[in-house]
Amino acid sequence: MLATTNLSDKTSYFLDKEERFGAHNYHPLPVVLSRGEGVYVWDVDDKRYYDFLSAYSAVNQGHCHPKIIAAFIEQAQRLTLVSRAFHSELMGEYTEYITKFFGYDKVLPMNTGVEGVETALKLARKWGYMVKGVPENKAKILVCSENFHGRTITVISFSTDPDSKKDFGPYTPGFEVIEYNNIAALQAALQDKNVVGFLVEPIQGEAGVVVPDEGYLSKAAAICKDANVLFIADEIQTGLARTGKMLACDHEGVRPDILILGKALSGGTMPVSAVLADDEIMLCIKPGEHGSTYGGNPLACKVAMAALQVLKDEKMAENALLQGVYFREQLLALNHPHISTVRGKGLLNAIVIDHPEKDAAWDLCLQLKENGLLAKPTHGDKIRFAPPLVITRAQVDECIAIIKQSLEQHFNG
Ligand code: PLP
Repeated sequence: MLATTNLSDKTSYFLDKEERFGAHNYHPLPVVLSRGEGVYVWDVDDKRYYDFLSAYSAVNQGHCHPKIIAAFIEQAQRLTLVSRAFHSELMGEYTEYITKFFGYDKVLPMNTGVEGVETALKLARKWGYMVKGVPENKAKILVCSENFHGRTITVISFSTDPDSKKDFGPYTPGFEVIEYNNIAALQAALQDKNVVGFLVEPIQGEAGVVVPDEGYLSKAAAICKDANVLFIADEIQTGLARTGKMLACDHEGVRPDILILGKALSGGTMPVSAVLADDEIMLCIKPGEHGSTYGGNPLACKVAMAALQVLKDEKMAENALLQGVYFREQLLALNHPHISTVRGKGLLNAIVIDHPEKDAAWDLCLQLKENGLLAKPTHGDKIRFAPPLVITRAQVDECIAIIKQSLEQHFNG
């Protein structure tokens, strides 16, 4: 059965401090990390682990990628922040680089993912009033059940997860929740002429790596286009090579009207997010109407270019595709009675644990930790497996062996 983790004195020291002085807004595994490299992280006792969360897909390029860190250090020693009150030499370079990289007219740089989402929502509303001609204050944005787009008041206003939402009201109006992966529901909701945008995760990461039916995204994008509604893709978790393509939307040849990126856009070094769109949409926002002190700072610009270049040069999407297929095959081959589902795309994967014990998934993660692999349950019974995209086939084999052993120890031990 479960090794209820023998915590070292060092680990306990840091856990106690955090418990006492830090807000209790997370429930982490009892492991205290102090360094990382590639697919590995080490704890304060120098025990090595495979990182199967990759900081929620922010370190797709692997921990402390040398080229990203080099760009970071070089720029940090030169100029880090000028704010948008002035220009920086990197703003022009970066905006050209990222817009050409993804094929859009313009980019609006922000910091955290949720700021990117807020930016996209504001853009869609502005476009709705200025271009589509929606009456003042009537704009509506469609979102999906089980969505996760971050934690601001507006974004949790349209969450369907009670933990995210309860006791944080009153909520921001102007959103309608429709069922994810349901084209008929979207079609019906699009009848409302005041709808300006449809915000969707191409795969729902936080919900437990819920992959919609093939064709859902392309049909959704097509009916949005017919209804003159913006298709807004939140690729903060699914983008940047994670699912085996540069964007998850690329699997279905969909080009979102508004594309939101974050997380791995800095390779895990700092919060960098971006919203991309063409002029008709982006130029609806005028000077003074939106911004952020740190958004587009020179350090972020430099790091983001390095992070994107590394993804491309090192063919990380291709590796994610290859290793992802193999990883899921190997997981399925375990044929374990307490794994009811194996799902995912590329290296964004999850298993669903089928066991009467409420904490079975959590306890399995503790066992995995003992055996040198870090993963975290989401929504109780699901465990996400999302290693850095630099993982090799030999490492996947080693991880499968750890998972197999942990399952045996946990459920049969
Ligand atoms: N959107 C998606 C799909 C996410 O997965 C997340 C974070 O997990 C966010 C938005 C919010 O990003 P951040 O935590 O950087 O604000």
